[in-house]
Amino acid sequence: MLKYTDYSIVFSEIPDEVTLAINLSNCPNKCKGCHSPWLMDDIGEELTNSALSNLIQRYEDEITCICFMGGDIDPKRVNELGQYIQDNWAQINVGWYSGKSESPDCISVKNFQYIKLGEYKENLGGLSSPRTNQRLYKCFPNGEKVDITFKFQKKQL
Ligand code: SF4
Repeated sequence: MLKYTDYSIVFSEIPDEVTLAINLSNCPNKCKGCHSPWLMDDIGEELTNSALSNLIQRYEDEITCICFMGGDIDPKRVNELGQYIQDNWAQINVGWYSGKSESPDCISVKNFQYIKLGEYKENLGGLSSPRTNQRLYKCFPNGEKVDITFKFQKKQL
């Protein structure tokens, strides 16, 4: 099961997209220096298909993308939600921010247009840091993933 605590429309998490970012709780990763430590707690409301559908119907005219922020506690459900969006709102891109360094086998790349991998390491910084260990990939229907992390770093120039 996945639970969400809150959501917001953001412009910087996925380059060139207006994104409805949904914060998922119960994060198992325990990164030192975590930006949102409360997301390690088992809090919030269950992100059912119905709850997600209600959010999409409210914001679908304003957004181009939905991004699940976290969800490593139940990646199978993240994959189901990605497929649910693809099946019902084909015009909306889907992203997933994972704190793991590898995408689990239960994730089907065809359900996502973007996948971010990598835990947060204080000494290396987040996606906008030139030293970051984290990577954002653009995903294609044939399963190819292209590293587009540079798009965050160019913005700093
Ligand atoms: S993956 Fe994100 S939310 Fe989870 S502990 Fe690491 S920084 Fe915090």
